[in-house]
Amino acid sequence: MSNRKPFIAGNWKLNKTLKDVFAFTAEVAGKLPSEDKVDVAIAAPALYLVPLKHHGDKALKVAAENVYYKGFGAYTGEIAAEQLAAEGIEYAVIGHSERREYFHETDEDINLKAKALLAAGVTPIMCCGESLETFEAGKTAEWVTAQIEKGLSGLTAEQVATLVIAYEPIWAIGTGKTATNEIADETCGVIRNVVRHLYGDATAEAVRIQYGGSVKPETIEGLMAKENIDGALVGGASLDAESFLGLLEMYQA
Ligand code: 13P
Repeated sequence: MSNRKPFIAGNWKLNKTLKDVFAFTAEVAGKLPSEDKVDVAIAAPALYLVPLKHHGDKALKVAAENVYYKGFGAYTGEIAAEQLAAEGIEYAVIGHSERREYFHETDEDINLKAKALLAAGVTPIMCCGESLETFEAGKTAEWVTAQIEKGLSGLTAEQVATLVIAYEPIWAIGTGKTATNEIADETCGVIRNVVRHLYGDATAEAVRIQYGGSVKPETIEGLMAKENIDGALVGGASLDAESFLGLLEMYQA
């Protein structure tokens, strides 16, 4: 528990149709906790960002699941940070392990995406995390340090203070195997120390770090009690409205 504002975000990945999106927004309308206590967002497929923004509860912030780092131009199939900003999309997830693995995104791409988003006024949620092999070899700290150092390259302290970093161990994503609260907190602490080393105490104390990987309504409270964990990035348990509201239960009046 820290004095940073908690940030709970769902990541729908490649799921739902527009009908499902509207069913979800109707079910959570008026039931979200106060924005004074917690920031709440859903990352959705690009096709549903604008409907979510227009039909969702005001307290439900919207995140893209990806962005391209170039501006307007001949880049068929891509979405620019300026387009997200123009529609009031507050966040964009970048560097999710699924994008790194299946779409071959590199730390350099992710760094360029962070720069494009920050220039447009959209907050990046920059993901990092190690494979089971790296975890078992005891090389987690080394791995996430390199990812974050490269991801933040060239950003200013002011920019880094506003961004969100998500630590998502690949072995815990969609597997039902949550990292223990202690492991999650320890690695989020490693990430905070990378920021401290590069940008100093004030920036390290300001940056918000989420944990992601099989977070469920039953496990979120223990994670959020930890000093270095400021929020959660939740896949499976964010798809169903009741379960999503369950993740926010501790912030209800
Ligand atoms: P799960 O919560 O389904 O494990 O997914 C985590 C994740 O990848 C969120 O970005």
